[in-house]
Amino acid sequence: MGHSVLVVEDDTEIRELLRRYLERAGFAVVSTASGAQALDLLGRHVAALVVLDLGLPDVDGLEVLRAARSDGQVPVVVLTARGAVEDRIRGLELGADDYVTKPFSPTELVLRVQAVLQRTGGRAEPADLSYGDGRLRIDEARHEARWDGALLDLTPTEWGVLAALAAVPGRVYSRYELINRVRGYEFAGYERTIDSHVKNLRHKLGADGPRVVRTVQGVGYRLGLSRDR
Ligand code: CA
Repeated sequence: MGHSVLVVEDDTEIRELLRRYLERAGFAVVSTASGAQALDLLGRHVAALVVLDLGLPDVDGLEVLRAARSDGQVPVVVLTARGAVEDRIRGLELGADDYVTKPFSPTELVLRVQAVLQRTGGRAEPADLSYGDGRLRIDEARHEARWDGALLDLTPTEWGVLAALAAVPGRVYSRYELINRVRGYEFAGYERTIDSHVKNLRHKLGADGPRVVRTVQGVGYRLGLSRDR
């Protein structure tokens, strides 16, 4: 899995279009229609870059932009339908890394995202990662995981959960975040479905399952192994 991109866009069609194109380009996409949720996700450092629609229903997009730039300096590619000169100027003042005016070509947007990530130092390099003194190995390019050397037969959802948890070992992921990362869209009210996927994933990991995928009461899950050097 490549870099995580947070897509903040209240237009469902555009949001899903962006997801498809970004995922095809190898990015892991988290998306939301809500500015408030975007602020929450930014606070939890889920993204290497944000694609941000400025015209959001609940919070001023510029507010989200400001938060992204102040909190950990996450690069932002702004989408705007308004095309208003003052928005553009204001956005650039606040540190937007690039601008795309709607209607836009999704292919071009993906190229801009890649260019911004290269310019700002991040480059997606699929890696073969190792955790817990080599007991867990994750091959991002092949979407494969091995436990004690044996290939795990995972469903796409189980793989997605494991890859998300392994992205930042020890970090606690809420059910919302996991389902969003795996399914890619809001699953309000269905967050509990993640529990059954976690249960199956643990089962496949054998006796150590619950220690590899740890429950954090009242919050969600985290990887119980540290990454090997
Ligand atoms: Ca909008």
